[in-house]
Amino acid sequence: MKFNPAKALQNYLVFGEFGGVNPSITDSSTYTFLDPKRMEEIFEHEIEGCFLYSRHWNPINKELSKTLARMEDTEAAQVVASGMAAISSTVLQLCSTGDEIISSHTIYGGTYALFKNYLPRFGITVKFINTNNLEEVEKAVNEKVKIIYCESVSNPLLEIVNIPELSKISKKHNIKLVVDNTFSPMIITPKQLGADIIVHSMTKFINGTSDCVAGCICASKEFIDSLTDVASGTTMLLGPVLDSFRAASILKNIHTLHIRMRQHSHNAQYLSDNFEKLGLKVFYPGLKSHKQHELLIELKNHGFGFGGMMVLDMETLENAQKLMVKMQEKNVGYLAVSLGYFKTLFSSPGNSTSSEIPEEEQKEIGISQGLVRISVGLDNDIEDTFNTIKLCLEEIGYLRT
Ligand SMILES: *Cc1c(COP(=O)(O)O)cnc(C)c1O
Repeated sequence: MKFNPAKALQNYLVFGEFGGVNPSITDSSTYTFLDPKRMEEIFEHEIEGCFLYSRHWNPINKELSKTLARMEDTEAAQVVASGMAAISSTVLQLCSTGDEIISSHTIYGGTYALFKNYLPRFGITVKFINTNNLEEVEKAVNEKVKIIYCESVSNPLLEIVNIPELSKISKKHNIKLVVDNTFSPMIITPKQLGADIIVHSMTKFINGTSDCVAGCICASKEFIDSLTDVASGTTMLLGPVLDSFRAASILKNIHTLHIRMRQHSHNAQYLSDNFEKLGLKVFYPGLKSHKQHELLIELKNHGFGFGGMMVLDMETLENAQKLMVKMQEKNVGYLAVSLGYFKTLFSSPGNSTSSEIPEEEQKEIGISQGLVRISVGLDNDIEDTFNTIKLCLEEIGYLRT
């Protein structure tokens, strides 16, 4: 029986201060104590229901964190101000000077820059490899390695990472397996597959309205406690606090995530199926032609489909750009980075990400300059959207009428 994250979210009621159906928004940075001894005590350890200062914890951020922990099936979680804050805090909590990280080479551009350009300043080095080549992973392991890092669904070709196999290696060597699950909330539950720490950019699907930047870290209680330790915790001391008004709005949005993921997936599957029938080169894990289609069937939870992200290969950057301009003209969606919005978003990853992958390998795994990455929106009539995009392809001369 697979995990059901939607049920885990539903089976829980939160009561606001006056019995409100939404918890109250924390509008305070600091909290009173009736007894100074109690204040001393909270510096030592967390006290249930007792708050010190909002950079440490505040009530609404705690509610949102608990909700995320239920969704990812972890003991605890902490919300932070961005996906990058979740990633950087996790890494800096686990690694010190001299330590190493093994990372997938197909990761989000910001994470790649952090690992490649920033962490070396502190003597932390990152080896970029193909994490689906398990021999390569084993070879990269040594006693300095503290983290194996990957994304459950990778950039740009939406490859699925074999979390259970990576987990075997990480457990054997006592290394933490950190998985960025931003592309596949609800669909994949990395903890169930053996991951230790799950990070998200909530900016994307979890919030789903492209109106804020936020992130979270889902992990054991021990790890979250270490992050929030008053004297030595990374989130406590670097201070990437999520604003409580935002926490409140994300908490409301997360309860429609299961419906949104289903619709994103339904629409992306429809477009992918039909583009493939037109003879276009399409990457979508819900297609039989996708290299990890079977693997995703094995790993995914039931009922949320294969995700809302798909990639069209238009062969050249020029074709890709023409198509995107045309699609924006015809109101298919926005030419914009990011993903998980209720409207369709598209951008061209070919010339920006994936720079760590040698050119030969890029060709081998199918990364071309003409990729158009599409975060498919919640369109009610996806057949109509398909016909509009088909018209765009015809008008730019890529498809014959
Ligand atoms: C956007 C994104 C991030 C960074 O998140 P921010 O909220 O922009 O800081 C990290 N990982 C992935 C996979 C992303 O798509």
